[in-house]
Amino acid sequence: MGKITGFLEFDRKIEQYAPVKDRLKNYKEFTLPLKEKELKNQGARCMDCGIPFCHSGCPLGNLIPDFNDAVYLGKWEKAADILHATNNFPEFTGRLCPAPCEEACVLGINENPVTIENIEKNIVETAFEKGWIVATPPANRTGKKVAVIGSGPAGLATAQQLNRAGHLVTVFERDEKPGGLLRYGIPDFKMEKSVIDRRLKILEEEGIVFKCGIHVGVDIKADTLKNDFDAIVLSGGATIRRNLPIEGANLDGVVQAMDFLSQNNRRVDGVKDLGKEIKATDKDVIVIGGGDTGSDCIGTSFRHGAKSV
Ligand code: SF4
Repeated sequence: MGKITGFLEFDRKIEQYAPVKDRLKNYKEFTLPLKEKELKNQGARCMDCGIPFCHSGCPLGNLIPDFNDAVYLGKWEKAADILHATNNFPEFTGRLCPAPCEEACVLGINENPVTIENIEKNIVETAFEKGWIVATPPANRTGKKVAVIGSGPAGLATAQQLNRAGHLVTVFERDEKPGGLLRYGIPDFKMEKSVIDRRLKILEEEGIVFKCGIHVGVDIKADTLKNDFDAIVLSGGATIRRNLPIEGANLDGVVQAMDFLSQNNRRVDGVKDLGKEIKATDKDVIVIGGGDTGSDCIGTSFRHGAKSV
């Protein structure tokens, strides 16, 4: 444990946001990072509890008190190793995870919880900046071939684990680029797509092959895959919209979030042929649903220049 009295000395401090008038001008991420000293203090707030409930709060079982301690001590490379021991892509979770670990944090019983997610993001960003995250292809190949269908976070993590075990992995993706909802659902202002591309480059250098624009079952038969590969992993996402079962749900002007958001992400990516344009410019917009998807629609509508949201 780093600083025994850290949780008594330091208040929770999370990264701030760029001013609204600035961030609405573009689709870039708008968080303002803390200074290193501030991050160390946040790591010092971890109490290294006898039973760290954050472990079980995190779906990945991240070793949270251990990386908090390493951050407090300024041992960033060690922190990155601890983080990657359980998390293939902390740069995704550090930006997008709803952070159930912080709900489970014991300090949160009577104080503000440790800023676990933000510490996670800063560990991995420091590691990329310092050049510590590099391709590590397996020393030996098993000769077995595996097809992974779907390149969302589950498909990418599966591919990385199987490749590390020495298998030859090919990922099939229906869309034009890998990433699934990371690329075509999450707006760039929450996660810029260069974050995905940076990781994909490493996966490719490690030997994983990506085949995009291939709809398995339509463009290629399942039997063909069964003949060509020793194993197939199904890691496709759910792209079926949840419609409102009410009259008028299909009228003109009623738009599904997944159509709205994915078209906009393609627009931001420079794709020209987008089909029927869906834009909120000069419109009065009503968003039904106040979760993450709803907030993504709100942020996107404002950036389009909606009259009201
Ligand atoms: S923010 Fe990170 S540590 Fe917390 S639950 Fe999500 S993945 Fe786990």
